[in-house]
Amino acid sequence: MARRICIAGNWKMNKTREEAVALVSELKEKVGHIQATDTDVVVCPPFTALWGVSEALAGTAIGVGAQNIHWEESGAFTGEISADMLTEIPVQYAIIGHSERRQYFNESDDTVNKRLNAALKAGLTPIVCVGETLEQRESGDTETVVDRQLSGGLAGISAKQMESVILAYEPVWAIGTGRTATPQQAQEVHAFIRRKVADSVGDVSQRVRILYGGSVKPGNASELLAQPDLDGALVGGASLKADDFLGIIEAATA
Ligand code: PEP
Repeated sequence: MARRICIAGNWKMNKTREEAVALVSELKEKVGHIQATDTDVVVCPPFTALWGVSEALAGTAIGVGAQNIHWEESGAFTGEISADMLTEIPVQYAIIGHSERRQYFNESDDTVNKRLNAALKAGLTPIVCVGETLEQRESGDTETVVDRQLSGGLAGISAKQMESVILAYEPVWAIGTGRTATPQQAQEVHAFIRRKVADSVGDVSQRVRILYGGSVKPGNASELLAQPDLDGALVGGASLKADDFLGIIEAATA
């Protein structure tokens, strides 16, 4: 089944508002010819740049995403941002459960699930990240870990809701390290993820997009995206430079 490719850039804690607007202005100019194709392009700047980036991209096909979202609508949650605050901007996507949030901010499968529900309720498209550490891979626990993250993170999500969810497989050992999973390694886990989604919601699994993330660059994107269960990429470092990000988009649309 043909699934629409999605290339999403996770800028992490990089770019001031001014730098962010400059970057998307370049993307907007150069990505025009690509927008007619079957590829979704998304940028996820830090919260402080979301308004500026959203304004700069208004009227284009490039989507805007947040890097996190809180599950409550409002209240005493210092430092947090709610779904309504994001949709007001407007933002269309939210990354949930990135491994850096799991590693440095105690994100758990339970909080991933709460954030996912909040995103879906607000009509945002969640990009839910899963992936194993190097130690877990080397001890043969990749599938156990990914299965646990999927079961907890997607608990209670219906088949209909799952239609709106994007998943991202991001092996922690490949994020920001320059060490990419081989296309075969990535495909194996993507196929496993799709089987697990099928076990819980059935045929919808064939329509769920599963992105790969972990040192994706213009030079390795084609080979990765040629795998049958890879439906796009979540790109960190290479999304910070227009030429690199455009190179990945071009590889996806070639
Ligand atoms: C990420 O942060 O989601 C990521 C995949 O980073 P990088 O592309 O830099 O490995």
